[in-house]
Order: sequence, then structure tokens, then C-alpha cells
Amino acid sequence: MDWMKLSTTKITKVYHRVFFNHCYLCNNDTPHTLCKFCQQGLPTNLNHCKHCKRPTQYHTNLCGNCQTNRPSYHTCIAPYRFEGIIKTLIHSIKFNQGIHYIRPLTYLLSEHLLETYSCDQWPEQIFYVPSHPKRIKERGFCQTKAMTNQLVKYLKQHLNEKCPSLPRNNPLKKIKHLAAQHSLSRKERLKSQKNSYQLDRPIPKHVALFDDVMTTGSTIENCTNLLLKAGAERVDIWVIARTPDKEHSVKLSEPA
Ligand SMILES: [Zn+2]
Ligand SMILES: [Zn+2]
Repeated sequence: MDWMKLSTTKITKVYHRVFFNHCYLCNNDTPHTLCKFCQQGLPTNLNHCKHCKRPTQYHTNLCGNCQTNRPSYHTCIAPYRFEGIIKTLIHSIKFNQGIHYIRPLTYLLSEHLLETYSCDQWPEQIFYVPSHPKRIKERGFCQTKAMTNQLVKYLKQHLNEKCPSLPRNNPLKKIKHLAAQHSLSRKERLKSQKNSYQLDRPIPKHVALFDDVMTTGSTIENCTNLLLKAGAERVDIWVIARTPDKEHSVKLSEPA
């Protein structure tokens, strides 16, 4: 390779990314992963259901679904709505090999978790919702595994031994490969996803379950039930973003 012909701008960019703190999105100087201007443009999940964090137009105590069929997890942490720049970055990781966006996204979630758990008990272990081996082979990596690894690195910097441990092998396995679920209703998804996951060993009493995005919540509910059956007494859900219902997504993006 002729090193002299390599783009010096590219090399400078990589050098600065490694040795200096620059914003991942706009390259401005910042001591954080994202500068304050980029952070201001993120779709924060401000109004939501208190339990499942489903984005709503106004702050809601419990959404209709939680009132009639409350999910079994103890708490859900979902700092962003799955739209705008957050949606673009997650899509880029999943479908466009944009693995370098794992850092800023998990950094944002870690900051939110540190604030939320400042007066609560941290879980003993953290697991993630895995992809099916066939999907991992197609994509070349499991994005939830890579995100959980990075998230734990950020948390460890602040928590040391208090940090939830990440088992070498995730006990949750996806055993059923399903076609795209986007067009299915919540009821249809729950039905089709039954028995999609398997748990291969007993687990501690208080655990966290990570996923990148929660849409209808059916995957999370299926996995939570497995964790509860395997010995967990409290399951905390950690997701980067929660998909708004269609009508809320439109209203939220309209000017006030
Ligand atoms: Zn920026
Ligand atoms: Zn709810």
C-alpha cells in the first residue's frame, strides 16, 4: 500500500477521534462523545407512560395497554423516541455497518442510567436480547451484543465493582428465525414470537435486559417472562429508544 497516497484528511480525522475529544456527529471540540448542540437535537422521550415509557403526546400515568395488560418487567428505561437522528444512527448500525455509532448511542444511555440509578439498586447482571445466529451471520455481528459490551465499559468507568456484570455467554438465545415483524400488530407479534427465545441457565434475582429499540414490547415481554421463570425477581429493561405510536409520531413532529 502506498501510504503517501492515503487521504491525509481521513488520517487526521481518525487521529483526532482517537487522541482528542471530538463530537461523533459534527466533529466539533467537546469533552463528551456528543457536543451540546448535537445533544440538544436528539428526540428525548419527554412525555411517556410511566411504566412502559411508550411516548405519548402529554405526560401519562399509565397508557391503555399498561392499564389492561401491564408488562411484567419492574421498570423500563428508554431515554429517546425512535425517530430523527436516533433512528438514523440505529438504522446505520443495523443495516449499513455503522458500528462507530455504537459509542455515542451507548454513551447517551449510560449517562441516563447513571442518573436514574443514583438512588436505586443496580442490577446484578446485564443480558441482551440477541439476534438469531442466521441474522448475525448475514450482518457480521450482533448489534445488541456489541452495544452491551460498550455500555458496560462506560458504566464501569463510574461504578467499578458496583457495575452489573456481563456474563461471558449471554444466557438468552434466539432459536426461531422470524420474517420482518414491522407489518404485524402487537397481538400477531406476541403470537409469532412465542417460543422464539430460550434461556440456558438459572440467573440472579435482579437483572437488566438491554435492547436497542422497543416497538410493541412483545419481544421484551417474552424475554422478561423467561427471565422471571429462570429465577429473576426483578427485571429492568434498558433500551436506547422507544417507538412512538403512529399518531403520536406525527403530532410530535408537527410544529407547536
Ligand atoms: Zn456535535
Ligand atoms: Zn404503558
